[in-house]
Amino acid sequence: MERIYLDYNASAPLLEPVKAAMIEAFDVFGNGSSVHSQGRKVHGRIETAREQVAKMVGARGQDVIFTSGGTEANNLALTPSLFPKDLQSQARLYVSAIEHPSILNGMRFEKDQITVIPVTREGVVDVEWLRNELLNSEDAPEELNKNEPHKKHIKPILVSVMAANNETGIIQPITEISEIVHEAGGLLHSDCVQVLGKMPLLLPMTNADLISVSAHKIGGPQGVGALILRDASVVLREPHVAGGGQELKRRGGTENMAGIVGFGVACEVVNDTQAAEQGRIKDLRDQLEVGLLDISPDAVVFGKDVQRLGNVCCFAVPGFSAETQVIQLDLMNISLSSGSACSSGKVDHSHVLKAMAVKETISHAALRVSLGPQSSLDDVNGFLKAWESIYTRAKKRGHAA
Ligand code: PLP
Repeated sequence: MERIYLDYNASAPLLEPVKAAMIEAFDVFGNGSSVHSQGRKVHGRIETAREQVAKMVGARGQDVIFTSGGTEANNLALTPSLFPKDLQSQARLYVSAIEHPSILNGMRFEKDQITVIPVTREGVVDVEWLRNELLNSEDAPEELNKNEPHKKHIKPILVSVMAANNETGIIQPITEISEIVHEAGGLLHSDCVQVLGKMPLLLPMTNADLISVSAHKIGGPQGVGALILRDASVVLREPHVAGGGQELKRRGGTENMAGIVGFGVACEVVNDTQAAEQGRIKDLRDQLEVGLLDISPDAVVFGKDVQRLGNVCCFAVPGFSAETQVIQLDLMNISLSSGSACSSGKVDHSHVLKAMAVKETISHAALRVSLGPQSSLDDVNGFLKAWESIYTRAKKRGHAA
């Protein structure tokens, strides 16, 4: 039996045109900062890719800062140096409780400068809490510049909320959040790693001031990503990686040219196909969920009643250990993640499900199926057949509801 890959939110397979472009790029030798013709060739490849990434998200090329991935893009964004020097010590960072660990650590903010935004039981950031905190508190700004709110940062507030969650696929009300943050005179960063390729023109769509993206979630190479700024009014005063002034002094270090070329091509390919693909993938996911609930009516699908990415199904059958399921399914040639997989590969209580007030006995059973462009109905049926067999066995032994 061929392996069934159901872990696209972790990483997607490299697209063939991406691989071909990268192999070709490996033969272009030189340093993009050198002024001779070889250096200029490398520089040209990087700039073409910059435009491809910018076009996909609706940004300008000069506002794209290439990084080593989504993690570094997130780290780079979280800095009080987004604000003028005299305001930096008063700067506050607000992060939602369901962010990726690369946001939750707060990076260059001190612990006492960070506030966590709660989420509802449905896994959606609590917009009313944020509104109260930023607009109704005693020190809310009195004078607002409604016409160009993002240009006049009255308060050194940075809010970071992801566009959709990687574990559950739950989509966040990011446009509403951007209105609140801008009304409060703050800046909004959005981790868009899981929505790139699934929603068009992310920068105008989110209305965020900074967004993070990563190549390997859309069939580009691993180890490449970007932090993208809204426009020249968003200034990163101190780079996180300082060096030779690359990326307009915002991220030092010789660029990973072949990787960046691959990212650009991935954006171009996915930009042309995303609209058609998303509908097909969502149909597959919906069929998978119907099948699952048919096999086990006790299965809980997280976020079923709110807006979710069409490629994700995060579910749990109470008592049925996720770790056991992942191992058993792996032996049956099926790759997927537990809803709470952490980077060390161990299964832990998911901070996302915890923030949604899901009981530990249920979150320990959470599995995440994530589909992608190469997924097929055969994959879905193969998974359902395999899952039914392990579930039936576990139920007989009293190891599942
Ligand atoms: N943010 C989210 C929401 C993610 O899902 C991931 C990857 O899993 C990252 C950030 C990190 O991206 P990268 O693997 O490119 O460092």
